[in-house]
Amino acid sequence: MEPSVRPVGAGVADAARLDPDSRPAALDALAGAEFQVLVVGGGVVGAGVALDAATRGLSVGLVEARDFGAGTSSRSSKLIHGGLRYLEQFNFGLVREALAERSLLLGVIAPHLVRPVPFLFPLTHRLWERAYVGTGVSVYDALSLSFGHTRGLPGHHQLSRRAALRVAPALKRSAITGAIAYWDAQVDDARYVLTLIRTAAGYGAQVASRVQVRGLLREGERVTGVRAVDLETGGEIGIRAQQVVNATGVWTDEIQAMVGGRGMINLRVAKGVHLVVPKDRVHSSAGIIARAADSVLFIIPWERYWIIGTTDTDWAGSKTEPAASRADIDYLISQANRLLKTPLTREDVIGVYTGLRPLLAGESESTSRLSREHVVAHPVPGLVLVAGGKYTTYRLMARDAVDAVVHALDWRAPPSCTDRVPLAGADGYVALWNARHRLALSSGLHVARIEHLLRRYGSLTPELLALVAAEPGLGRPVTGADDYLRAEMVYAASHEGARHLDDVLGRRTHIAIETADRGMAALAEIASLVARPLRWDGRQTAREVAHYRAGAAAERASQEASTDADADAIRETVPDIVPVLDAGDGSGNGAGRMGGGVAGGVGGRSH
Ligand SMILES: Cc1cc2nc3c(=O)[nH]c(=O)nc-3n(C[C@H](O)[C@H](O)[C@H](O)COP(=O)(O)OP(=O)(O)OC[C@H]3O[C@@H](n4cnc5c(N)ncnc54)[C@H](O)[C@@H]3O)c2cc1C
Repeated sequence: MEPSVRPVGAGVADAARLDPDSRPAALDALAGAEFQVLVVGGGVVGAGVALDAATRGLSVGLVEARDFGAGTSSRSSKLIHGGLRYLEQFNFGLVREALAERSLLLGVIAPHLVRPVPFLFPLTHRLWERAYVGTGVSVYDALSLSFGHTRGLPGHHQLSRRAALRVAPALKRSAITGAIAYWDAQVDDARYVLTLIRTAAGYGAQVASRVQVRGLLREGERVTGVRAVDLETGGEIGIRAQQVVNATGVWTDEIQAMVGGRGMINLRVAKGVHLVVPKDRVHSSAGIIARAADSVLFIIPWERYWIIGTTDTDWAGSKTEPAASRADIDYLISQANRLLKTPLTREDVIGVYTGLRPLLAGESESTSRLSREHVVAHPVPGLVLVAGGKYTTYRLMARDAVDAVVHALDWRAPPSCTDRVPLAGADGYVALWNARHRLALSSGLHVARIEHLLRRYGSLTPELLALVAAEPGLGRPVTGADDYLRAEMVYAASHEGARHLDDVLGRRTHIAIETADRGMAALAEIASLVARPLRWDGRQTAREVAHYRAGAAAERASQEASTDADADAIRETVPDIVPVLDAGDGSGNGAGRMGGGVAGGVGGRSH
């Protein structure tokens, strides 16, 4: 039986609505048909593979063990960049490729989600460093120009110390001799993944979150699908596929182990911690990038905040919720304070988040020097592995993985077309932006609110305005998280596949890291807003709130621990996911799947 394919098309009308009913429908479809491609992992790479395959006309399924983007892809520095530091390694090809992607994302694929950001590279030596870094940034600009469209990113320029201090008065005068100003781009990484997923689903991909692959279906040596568990119910699902693409990032080893350790990809896992501090703590009109003791220091503008990152250390603890220790936080503060006139303290830190880099491992390099290039491997028939790379180049990773799939399928599929496929919300975005004052008038919202919505939802913004028109109270800000409208909470659950509070506070919005109380003051209101679309009763709502509180408390406590091991042990006391549905609750979630009752192993280290 062929899988059901939703209408295909591009643009605003076709962004799939991921509501609570779409998940059981997708699970039924996944259990009921053989797909040409099944993607394991809903990070940026897996979501990119699903979109690439769907837009080549292949039938596609995707399963994600947690929330879409909950792995590394919501925990990055949020930069779309060529990677200045690869120039030091003379890796011009890698830089040029990434800059070409930057240009595409800014101009064609996601102008609503990716935007230019100015940076300063402070100089600390007089002559040689200016020449050295200046040459590097000139090459950066030239490589970007050589691609043809930089979408208005200005070139770099050299600044004297006085000029640098005018741009960034926060810098310590004695710490710099001048600076180089240049431009890069940034993205809301979690929202980008979600938008990719919705776009792929709009082209017919069947996608389901909280479905964890636990084993592979085999016919002799050939992989013919996966054995997965619906973590919401414990029910087992067998999903048949002609080709399974593993895009599980730092979990790649676990999938490789399922083919008897016949892995071809050797990954190392490196932890990267970021801090969030309020904008007024660092007086600067540009981001700052500098060399740090063991890594690169970024101070990146982010809405009303700065993101300060990042550490780069080996990590052997939980991959699900990697923990930042007190040592990580102190390290970042001390590195920033080498440059800042008014030192930051721990009290300035309102948010902390931690991600794990999936690095292709060499034998003896330190993690920060490992390659960010990606690999695609085919260890056994029916299984394609894709890993490595970086956020910026996800589309190329996806293209290469689907090329391998198509080759193995022996199917005449067209080449990748994702360089011409705008994501949901991109088509019509510029026109709506230009009409933002009119939208403000007609909706009764302030134009600043409309701009906020446009930068998050692009041309899907009218869907949120329709919610407000139907229920004007949804046009009010969330109490305790007033950057966001109440409508956004509802929309997260009714259109964006959010199933738990962490999905809403941590990825559809960033309330979890943008408020000093991790969203506690807003929690009850958000829970009551999402309860209706998610059909939670009072008991369920209380469980969700209690679970979120416990997770936030464990995270806070882990950040007081002095070692990785202690921080990890504390964070691990709260499992990842609420097993939300009692048996026989009438949700209909169990339809069309085999068996059930997989005990334990929910979230946590069960990867
Ligand atoms: C600190 C840090 C900063 C970074 N900064 C940048 C940056 O500024 N710019 C840039 O370009 N790149 C950056 N990167 C790199 C970039 O974030 C990653 O390369 C990219 O997000 C990896 O995406 P992924 O899809 O491979 O992995 P992930 O996002 O981790 O996705 C893998 C998914 O697979 C799921 N999964 C695992 N096991 C299973 C299973 N058994 N069944 C189903 N699903 C499963 C996981 O839940 C996860 O969601 C950074 C990385 C880190 C750690």
